[in-house]
Amino acid sequence: MNVALSADGRALTLSGPLSEKDDLTRLAAQLSGEVRVDVGGVGRINSAGVKGWMSFVAALPDSVQLVFERCPAGFVSQLNMVAGFIGKGRVASVAVPYTCPSCGESADPIVSVSPLRDLPATHGPCPRCGAMLELDVSPDEFLAFLQG
Ligand SMILES: [Zn+2]
Repeated sequence: MNVALSADGRALTLSGPLSEKDDLTRLAAQLSGEVRVDVGGVGRINSAGVKGWMSFVAALPDSVQLVFERCPAGFVSQLNMVAGFIGKGRVASVAVPYTCPSCGESADPIVSVSPLRDLPATHGPCPRCGAMLELDVSPDEFLAFLQG
């Protein structure tokens, strides 16, 4: 996983796969206050990665509040399955997966979660073939973390 922290410490960008290779506990000690975390580029998360991630969350100083942006579907499913996955953090926006039923093209529009209660079943015409892009997930399952 690639880690980039802005000079002022307010913005963190995480990208790439999350696995046993990632030790983020040193990063946790560098953070303070509200930090916006862009996880839009986070790829596969394996079970060892989840374990390491939970150590990271546990190691965060009390003052830290992480605000997660552009959470991809893989990140959201961990959020829904793993209790305490983001600790005291909150989610600001998610990338909602849509697929074209006709040609397989996909799109992941970023949606803010603050007024979000449901997901539209379609997302405009496919840029490649013009068919309507269809929602790839069950809205209730995808948004389960909002009930927590
Ligand atoms: Zn298409």
